[in-house]
Amino acid sequence: MSRPHFARWLGQTNDVTQVFLAAGQIPDLINLAGGLPEPETWPVPELAELARSAVADHPGVTLAYPPIDGLPGLRDLIAARFSTPALQLSRENVLITTAGMQALDLLGKVLIDEGGLIAAQSPAYLGALDAWRPRQPRYRPLQMGANDFDAEAALSGAQFAYMVPNFSNPTGRLVGLAERHALIRAAETTGTWLVEDDPYGALYYDGAPLPRLISLWAEAHPGPYSGPIVYLGTVSKEIAPGLRIGWVIAAPEMIAALTTAKQASDMCTSGICQQIVQDAFASGLADRIRPVILDLYRARRDALCAAMDAHLGDLFDWEVPVGGMFVWAIAKNPALDTDRLLKVGLDHGVCISPSSVFDPLGQDRRAIRLNFTLNPPDKLAEGIRRLSAATRTLAA
Ligand code: PMP
Repeated sequence: MSRPHFARWLGQTNDVTQVFLAAGQIPDLINLAGGLPEPETWPVPELAELARSAVADHPGVTLAYPPIDGLPGLRDLIAARFSTPALQLSRENVLITTAGMQALDLLGKVLIDEGGLIAAQSPAYLGALDAWRPRQPRYRPLQMGANDFDAEAALSGAQFAYMVPNFSNPTGRLVGLAERHALIRAAETTGTWLVEDDPYGALYYDGAPLPRLISLWAEAHPGPYSGPIVYLGTVSKEIAPGLRIGWVIAAPEMIAALTTAKQASDMCTSGICQQIVQDAFASGLADRIRPVILDLYRARRDALCAAMDAHLGDLFDWEVPVGGMFVWAIAKNPALDTDRLLKVGLDHGVCISPSSVFDPLGQDRRAIRLNFTLNPPDKLAEGIRRLSAATRTLAA
């Protein structure tokens, strides 16, 4: 019996995903493939107390159905946190979501017509590609970084543009200030929505953070915000991913459309988790743990890159990322197939993410993504030694 619709969803589990699933069973595997924060950064006693008080002190709020668009107090807090002298945000600019992933899913529902065109940084976040796949969109790669990058040509005709300006997943790349200006100018001239996905914006290890696209836009258009930038935030990397709290900051009309879509998706985000996050921000918890997270991840990035210098310099090219969670390494040998490296790597006890999963067309086999936040320095170094051996075996 044929079940075409069901089969279409099963078809999303490709070969590489099967390999990842099997990898979970391998003992002593060093996992450089994921994008997980270090559990030791989670403020467990503080969150436990906030969880207790969320239920005990606010049962009328947290055990009821919260408003679809989020707890008013949390929306106000996010509006205040992200406002600048030019960017005037109010509650109407904020939708609380079940973390960043839901925001991506809702944007796909609201903005993409069947077969529509998305201008996206390429390679792109796998979760976004997966969320939008049911609409079977076409992709136009945003060739940022290229000298002749023409932002206006890149955005025109697209249903929206998608980017992670701070430390892209997978490449770890930071979009520079000149490109940021070019993008917001292009959003203005073309009238294209520009989705600024920013889960790593708090993870700058060197230098001062660059202004967000939404703040840059507001400098040219000060006042109550109603611009084309749709900003996505999340507590996943700043506090803990299990809270599943994120937010969209956008023009009130976009917030209204996404709220309608959210009602049909999950009705509302957990009130308990919203209250915990509201109290965590209000009490300064997120700000207190940030320096500890930054020191830990900076040291791990340095350890990974030092091991790469020692063992991979003749095999791959990479740039040291200024922040985020990933190093993107491109094979010097164009014939190296990183889908195969994933499998050979597992035989050597190391797991990496191959570039094919981040390519909207699934074709790029030349690069790998390495995560440095989840493992301590000695494991990172051992993982890179194993990866070096695996790459040499494959090349032999
Ligand atoms: N966007 C990007 C670029 C990500 O890397 C992630 C997850 N790591 C997300 C969105 C979604 O994260 P979450 O749903 O945990 O907020």
